[in-house]
Amino acid sequence: MNTIIVGLPGAGKGTQAERIVSTFNIPHISTGDMFRNAIKNETPMGLEAKSYMDRGDLVPDSVTNGVVKERLAQDDTKNGFLLDGYPRTIEQADALENILSELGRSLDTVINVDVDPSILMERLTGRFICRNCGATYHKIFNPPTVEGVCDNCGGTDFYQREDDKPETVKNRIEVNLKQSAPIIDFYREKGILNTVDGGQDIDDVFKNIESILNNMK
Ligand SMILES: [Zn+2]
Repeated sequence: MNTIIVGLPGAGKGTQAERIVSTFNIPHISTGDMFRNAIKNETPMGLEAKSYMDRGDLVPDSVTNGVVKERLAQDDTKNGFLLDGYPRTIEQADALENILSELGRSLDTVINVDVDPSILMERLTGRFICRNCGATYHKIFNPPTVEGVCDNCGGTDFYQREDDKPETVKNRIEVNLKQSAPIIDFYREKGILNTVDGGQDIDDVFKNIESILNNMK
């Protein structure tokens, strides 16, 4: 089955992607891996992408789309694939349609792991670190046994990384929401968007996804 997974940071997209590819035995095609492999294997598009990166320039859409096309043309995608991190823009979504139609294929579904931004805030701002020993905790997922006291060293002075601070996280969520909204609408209009409630626990989220994908077969 030919699938895309989308979700905001903290929605658990990565975990679900891993489970999907191992359960359905399809390759996980994430943007980062795709570029790394294309460059390592010195494919025509990989070399082109590298020439931009080496100059510190952004890789243009035409090259990104070319890398995707090379990847989707490989044999291991015959039974399907899970795209992750692409498309990011409507232009890329249009390009993907063309790439797939040239390959004689089409998208079956887009899985949207949807989590309320307030829950994402809780998840993504929860991490804090012991200033004395560097032990990492999370308010919800991994709190110290005694509140305010480090399990490891007894320290009581904690700090948050810049990336985990509420202002930073809020901004990151807003930017991602703005970027992903048009893509989600695009696939909703095509009638292939399937939204799952990513606020549930990991196993339940996966059960939902599994049943959607099983219905595609
Ligand atoms: Zn400590």
